[in-house]
Amino acid sequence: MTATTKHEMAMRTVERIVAPPQAHWVGDGFHVHGFFPHGPLSAKRMSPFFLLDYNAPTNFPPREEPYGVGPHPHRGFETVTIAYKGKVEHHDSHGGGGVIEEGDVQWMTAGSGLLHKEFHEQERSRQGGLFHMVQLWVNLPAKDKMTPPKYQAITNAQMGRVELPDGGEVEIIAGEFDGVKGPATTFTPVNMFNVRPKKGTTVELAFPANFTTLVLAVEGSGRINDSDVLPTDHVALLATDGERFTIEATEENSTFLVLSGEPIDEPIASYGPFLMNTQAELAQAIDDFNSGKFGHLE
Ligand code: MN
Repeated sequence: MTATTKHEMAMRTVERIVAPPQAHWVGDGFHVHGFFPHGPLSAKRMSPFFLLDYNAPTNFPPREEPYGVGPHPHRGFETVTIAYKGKVEHHDSHGGGGVIEEGDVQWMTAGSGLLHKEFHEQERSRQGGLFHMVQLWVNLPAKDKMTPPKYQAITNAQMGRVELPDGGEVEIIAGEFDGVKGPATTFTPVNMFNVRPKKGTTVELAFPANFTTLVLAVEGSGRINDSDVLPTDHVALLATDGERFTIEATEENSTFLVLSGEPIDEPIASYGPFLMNTQAELAQAIDDFNSGKFGHLE
């Protein structure tokens, strides 16, 4: 922001409220509503975000063998896993691995490529219980698609935190809210917050008008701009006609995941777990995968 004050910024209207699409299984561990790219919202409109899979709170019965999805590759983007309930254990072909604990976020840069597997943490799987998670894919600009793979394991305690004047708080994973920065480093400008206003109170947010901006009601429900009702598990896609908008919590313990990012204005070529700019790059990714260049993982 330069000299512009909040009062001079235009309101950003709601483009649409999107109900959760029919859920599908990823492996046997993730029962997800796919809002995009195969759902109601197009990949081009949602850039820099490419995929949003939302595992609404789901009860998993106790099982000795952990629920999850076995080894699979990724190249050309980042996967961001937000564990609201339950824990996710992961391992990759570079020898990395760990557990995403409840309340934590894993920001994985697949970049040039790796194989990984994602399972419910062993002990939680044995106990059974509620599992509630978001996985978001963030595209990388062409110049960074082949960057070396890396992880950012972001614990809840590391997140930026702003107490709201009327009660509640904002947890900042990436980007900046009210002068407080989130710990995640990103390749293009991305804001990612958990916004938790107290019931009956409103929080105002502002991002550059051209940023793709959406709000997912992960707990409770709310209203955007004092008018558009946002029920639980629904997404509000904001228009690009202004900067600022408000979220009101209309239930106790509401949590809204706010995502806002600068669109990457480059061609998209995608095939399964590969996200590149051209068909030739996709063919190369498939060749590299088939010839073992992503490494090996049992
Ligand atoms: Mn994966």
